[in-house]
Amino acid sequence: MQLSNIPSNPLSNDSNLPLSSLPLPFSVQKRQTKRIRQNLRKNNNFHNKENIQTSSSISNNTQFILPSPKKSKLTEFTKYDFDEFDGLEPLEDELNIDQMKETCPFCDEILPDLMSDKMKLALDRINNKQGKIEESDRIDFCHTHFAELSIVPSGIANKYPLNINFDELPHRIYRFKDDLTEIINGNAYSYYLNLAKQVYQEVGHRKAATPMMLMSRFESLRPGYYGSKGAVLIANTLIGLFINTRILTVVKSYPLQSINYIQEVLVPETAMRLIFEDIGGNSSLETARNIMIASSDFGDYVHNCDNE
Ligand SMILES: [Zn+2]
Repeated sequence: MQLSNIPSNPLSNDSNLPLSSLPLPFSVQKRQTKRIRQNLRKNNNFHNKENIQTSSSISNNTQFILPSPKKSKLTEFTKYDFDEFDGLEPLEDELNIDQMKETCPFCDEILPDLMSDKMKLALDRINNKQGKIEESDRIDFCHTHFAELSIVPSGIANKYPLNINFDELPHRIYRFKDDLTEIINGNAYSYYLNLAKQVYQEVGHRKAATPMMLMSRFESLRPGYYGSKGAVLIANTLIGLFINTRILTVVKSYPLQSINYIQEVLVPETAMRLIFEDIGGNSSLETARNIMIASSDFGDYVHNCDNE
């Protein structure tokens, strides 16, 4: 079997390793074998990860529960038959190309030649850590290099912004006030209000509002490439606009609690409108929503409130 016939790992984004071209120099094949194994191990490493909520206090004694940074989701993976590769094994050590590169101490993934400050810091932390290295250290570090080798490059290819002017966000959000007030007053359609109502109907109001249930819905409510930094800023701006001014009352937010209405309805509705503007304002909110969903991992890594 030709190595070149093996399907490339759809999750790896290793554009520098074209598996489709034929025939490949043997050294390249060897690197691919190693990379596939690394990816498989990495995939195994990323399973079983649960997000844990953190909370941040905000003004007016209202609690906004922040989704924890989304970690990579590698739920699908092509199975490789490694028996096919065993013939290559004896030559493995003859190839020193990869050995010159710095690799992840946990999963052997080759780290980029030019590491970001964030990755250098993370590597320093691992190398200089006193005492036992915890599972969480490994998960965090492997997530960091996975993000930098995969999530960020593919996000850049999709033109998600590396730089966002967060200072101007409140003013941009003020312009949506009338639009969002129409949703609150029941005069305009809201995809996210409908979604929330469906969940509340299905599982019951009390259960739907529990922290665990909210956490399970957070993933789909993330504000795309605006990341958790954007989520906090948007939520705080909306609280000032609608809760502090009593536009969003207990009655109007029913069956959701007002703060949950902000999180589950108005934050994603706002993020969708910001993205709609970003892409020129000529498409549809649905297009913006799709970008929002697709760019959330990128946002959580690049524009994470823990970054600063
Ligand atoms: Zn790793």
